[in-house]
Amino acid sequence: MTCPQCGEACTRDLVDVGVGEMPSGPYGCENCGWLEPLPPDVTIVHYLNAGRALCGLAGPPNQWPDGHRWVSGRGATDEVTCQECRRRLV
Ligand SMILES: [Zn+2]
Ligand SMILES: [Zn+2]
Repeated sequence: MTCPQCGEACTRDLVDVGVGEMPSGPYGCENCGWLEPLPPDVTIVHYLNAGRALCGLAGPPNQWPDGHRWVSGRGATDEVTCQECRRRLV
């Protein structure tokens, strides 16, 4: 692909995985420093209480946006990454 900022060819890191080289990470432009934005793959983990996220995220889990999941129960609270859920867990 070419850089959307300067039009130069973009490069991508290649990693040798044993059976050949696989692209790794986002495309980047050596000319201007542009980096391909990555799709958000950060999963936000909420704490589920009575079928709803503790933080008040709207709707049941199956209506949440991509990237949200939940845990529930004692011992699972360490996995919670939602700031607001964590705050209300204390
Ligand atoms: Zn560029
Ligand atoms: Zn939450």
